[in-house]
Order: sequence, then C-alpha cells, then structure tokens
Amino acid sequence: MNKTITVIKGDGIGPEIVTEALKVLDKVCEKYGHTFTYQEILAGGCAIDAYGRSLTEEALEKCLDCDSVLLGAVGGPKWDGVAKEIRPEAALLGIRSAMGLYANLRPARLFPQLADASPLKPEIVAKGIDLMMVRELIGGAYFGEHKTVEENGEIVAHDDMTYSEHEVRRIAHTAFQTARKRDSRVISVDKANVLDSSRLWRKVVHEVAAEYPDVICTDMLVDNTAMQLVKNPSQFDVVVTENLFGDILSDESSMITGSIGMMASASLGDGTRGMYEPIHGSAPDIAGQNLANPIGTILSAAMMLRYSFDMIAEADAIEAAVNAVLDEGYRTGDIMSEGMKKVSCSEMGTLVAEKI
Ligand code: NAD
Repeated sequence: MNKTITVIKGDGIGPEIVTEALKVLDKVCEKYGHTFTYQEILAGGCAIDAYGRSLTEEALEKCLDCDSVLLGAVGGPKWDGVAKEIRPEAALLGIRSAMGLYANLRPARLFPQLADASPLKPEIVAKGIDLMMVRELIGGAYFGEHKTVEENGEIVAHDDMTYSEHEVRRIAHTAFQTARKRDSRVISVDKANVLDSSRLWRKVVHEVAAEYPDVICTDMLVDNTAMQLVKNPSQFDVVVTENLFGDILSDESSMITGSIGMMASASLGDGTRGMYEPIHGSAPDIAGQNLANPIGTILSAAMMLRYSFDMIAEADAIEAAVNAVLDEGYRTGDIMSEGMKKVSCSEMGTLVAEKI
C-alpha cells in the first residue's frame, strides 16, 4: 500500500521522538511491502522562527492533502510571549479544525512491565488497565459563547455548553466503531441528572447504540466515572464523553497508567484521515539530549496504521515490538527502575524497529 504522511516534528523533543517513529514505520514498510512517503512541514515554534507564524497556508494544505498527519510536539518557553493568534498551540487548533477532527482517542494502557509507575495500589493495578477514552473535541463548553458581564453590580461570567444532535451522533458512532475493534463495550459518560446537554447526549447515544447490537452500552455519571477510574479501572473498555468531561477524565486515565512518555493519541473526523501524536508536550527540559522516550510517538504511529490505514497486523507488530523491548528490560530515563538497562531515545527507537 502507498500512503502519504504529513510529518510535523515540531519543537523541543519533537524532532528526536518523531525520527524514531519514522525509523519504526520504515521497518514496517520493509517488512510488509508498503511505501510511506513523508512530507515534512514546519508548525509551532519552529514555524514562528522561520515564517513569523505557527502555521502557514502551504503547511496546512499539506495536512489536508495527505493520508494522515504524524506530530511530535510544539511549543516551549522561547515562544511563551508571542501573540495569542500565532502561538505554537494555535497551529494545532488550526489543523484540527481545518481537518474536521472531532474525535480524540486516547488509549490508557498499563504495561505490566511498568506497573510500579502507577500511583494506584498493586491489587488494583494487578487486574490490568486497558481502556480507550473517546472525547468529543470541537463542541461543548470550550466552543460555546464565553462572556463576562456586569449584572446587579457584580461581575458575572458565562460559559455556554451546547451540543446538537449531529455532534453527539457522530462521536457516538466513533465510539461504537472503536469498541468493535476492541472488547465491544462502551460506557457513555454524562451528567444527565443535572444538565440538558447531557440528557440530549444520553438520548442520542442510546439511538446510536441500537445500530450496534453487538456492542454493550452503559451510562455512567461523570462524578462516578472519576471515582471508578481509580477504584476499578479494569472495568472500562471504551469510554465516550463530551469535551470538558473528556479533558479531565483523559488526563486522569493517563495518570493511572504511570508514564506520560508512553501515551499515544489520535484525533479523527469523518473518513479515515487523522492526526496522531503523543499526549505529552515538547519537554524543553530534556530537548536535544537524546533522553526522551519515543514510545508514545511510536505507539501513535501504530494507531495511525490501525485507525487510518486499516493495517491491523502492522499495528499489532509495533505494539508487540514495544512490549518485547520492555520485557527485555530496556528503559529510557523517564521509566527507568533498578535492575533495568538504560537507553537513549535513538537506541529505544532502534530496539523497537529491530523487533518488527
Ligand atoms: P511536557 O509534557 O512537555 O513535560 C512534562 C514533563 O514530562 C517534563 O518533565 C518532561 O521532561 C517530561 N516528559 C514529557 N514527555 C516526555 C518523554 N517523551 N520522555 C521523557 N520525559 C518526558 O509538559 P510541559 O512541560 O507542561 O510543556 C512543555 C511545552 O510543551 C509547553 O510549551 C507546552 O505548551 C507544550 N505542550 C505541547 C503539547 C502538544 O504539542 N500537543 C501538549 C502539551 C504541552
């Protein structure tokens, strides 16, 4: 298969971790007979330095004219003072909105080899954590009207949380289709006992659930979900929720698995094209030192193969390679523990690629 991948290395550790992910993708091509063409663009701080803004039209065009986008991370203290419209993060929002990426998929999986890194009790961790958080990305309170006004002699702030049926319907389909590639269970999270937007959410999710009789669908209130994630995370397969709840719950679910450098994510819209990136930032404190953990980016590339290119065996091979390397005791600094073998970012990439 031939695929064109737009590559955004970005800032800080971005170039180091993306280089390792490409090393692994190249090995997949060699092993499975595919051709991946990489078109590299500048976005984020490096684009501000080169062009005076974090995303040029030509760069955005390349994101719209490809099979998927692979991103490292953008931003850093160097650009903290720049105007809001050209900030590094504005590039990501620009790409997400132009590509119509309304679904954010974040797997939270505990690698048994790294169980000690989880802040949860060993008896909870022993049952395993392997869930997929599906968060609605371009609706709800973050995109409603925000205003701060004076009413009755005091300042009052409003944030409007709005959802329309079509916004709920499309993310619900994403969740059910994702569940079919996993353990066929969806927990839909809302606050239907209080919020109108949640009551609509629940009604529409139930309508969509009827189209997927093979997938078990259950409702859970958001406050209970926050508790269940730390009490019994092994009960979750796919969790689908709106933007604000998803922002909070996805960070909680990442935290319980321990290491930020291991975590992948995908942003998807209609069709197969998506943007894939690790959940962490550009880690300026360790940039340029060959210390970063590239596994989150490598697993993001595996998600790209699974969700955008339908290359299931290839994605499985990458995940198995990561597992094998961890099994052999290789660790980057962030996941290092006693008795393990410490490796650099590039060594970790090479080790994973060799296992493909
Ligand atoms: P961060 O995720 O970059 O770093 C937090 C801590 O985790 C640091 O100690 C860092 O060294 C460590 N870390 C992160 N990724 C790692 C990896 N792969 N291997 C080893 N250690 C790793 O968060 P931050 O420090 O709050 O943000 C730094 C910059 O990144 C900021 O400019 C922020 O705006 C930006 N950021 C970008 C994105 C993105 O591009 N999607 C996301 C979050 C933050």
